[in-house]
Amino acid sequence: MQPKPQHPITIAGAGLAGALLATLLARRGWAVEVFEKRPDPRRKGYEGGRSINLALAERGLDALRQAGLQDVVMAQAVMMRGRMVHPLGGGEQLQRYGRDDSEVIWSVHRGRLNIALLDAAEAAGAKIHFSHRLDGVDFDARRARFVNDHDRTARELDFEALLGCDGAGSGVREALRPRLALGERFEPLGHGYKELEIPPAADGGFRIEPNALHIWPRGGYMCIALPNTEKTFTVTLFLPMQGEPSFATLPDLAAARDFFARDFADALPLLPEFDADWTDNPVSGLGTLSLQRWHLDGRAVLLGDAAHAMVPFHGQGMNCAFEDCIALDRHIASSADFETAFAGFEAERRPNADAIQAMALENYVEMRDRVDDADYLLQRQLEVK
Ligand code: FAD
Repeated sequence: MQPKPQHPITIAGAGLAGALLATLLARRGWAVEVFEKRPDPRRKGYEGGRSINLALAERGLDALRQAGLQDVVMAQAVMMRGRMVHPLGGGEQLQRYGRDDSEVIWSVHRGRLNIALLDAAEAAGAKIHFSHRLDGVDFDARRARFVNDHDRTARELDFEALLGCDGAGSGVREALRPRLALGERFEPLGHGYKELEIPPAADGGFRIEPNALHIWPRGGYMCIALPNTEKTFTVTLFLPMQGEPSFATLPDLAAARDFFARDFADALPLLPEFDADWTDNPVSGLGTLSLQRWHLDGRAVLLGDAAHAMVPFHGQGMNCAFEDCIALDRHIASSADFETAFAGFEAERRPNADAIQAMALENYVEMRDRVDDADYLLQRQLEVK
């Protein structure tokens, strides 16, 4: 399809997928209008200033490379060459991801990555409207309604095609539900997570090995830590929501401290702000969302978490969302119309998303339960050799 400047493509959500897709489509000459429910993070700051990071793997890196964004993102990435496993009895062991540093993953700062992608989208010519939440869609009239949650103003806009990059709680998906048999299934994991932080050491350096993804496996639950360029680590505790132990059995700070002193004794001294972090940071749930249909003829399509949110244990949600963007841009460029493009995109990407979701669930068991198992370690050593 040749870009039709008189028919703008409308994207809901300027998160990771929305900003990358806006960049790709605007570069091809499409008029791209993006509507994001949050304020501009370049003015308002990101996630209350907390450092939240993501593991960027080759799939996502390849997408960024194709979009010409590799250098700007990699300038702020920390290499992780393997898992640093911290068993209950103390000590640590590095399990490399590959034979050498050509097979590694990278820790990137979510907020800074999003800002780099927003800058790229605007530089390519996309218009981003912040504080505009998609509130409803009239698919027959091809008209979307957006609401500003701060001043309660609303506006309606016509669209040619609506691309749902608005994440796990997608408004586009909600609007599609009465129009399309989505075949929607959401399976809660029953485990949640809470984020904590390891600050820099007194000398300004990292407190633990920086070039690793740290794991404290404890059978039914675990902590992980990913490095940040400011010499901190974002620590995430993954724990059941119910049962023993669980977030339900840690009702207050004292119980949480006792739990860490018992089960994460070597991690607790690395967390001087434990009390504030535990009190201030929420417990969030996790789950897997799958759909049988991702598009309504040529009018709307879902991608990224809006189509296939997954548990984070393979570190692939963002990587998969970036691959979606490359694929959808390619299908739009090479198809005669949006309907053919969306159908081709869904046929290509849905089996991939299904496979990655299953692998992400399997990897939770491996990370929390098997990485410190002696038989498993021996087998891995043999495989690497
Ligand atoms: P999002 O990044 O969620 O962006 C959606 C955007 O849409 C947001 O900006 C939101 O404000 C906006 N929005 C929402 N509703 C509306 C609306 N109605 N109107 C307008 N705008 C709206 N992935 C990895 O690859 N590696 C990792 O290491 C990794 N770690 C993770 C750790 C955790 C704890 C979690 C929860 C996820 C992790 N992920 C990871 C997954 C990754 O965060 C997501 O897959 C990725 O953010 C998906 O990008 P997206 O653009 O589809 O959605």
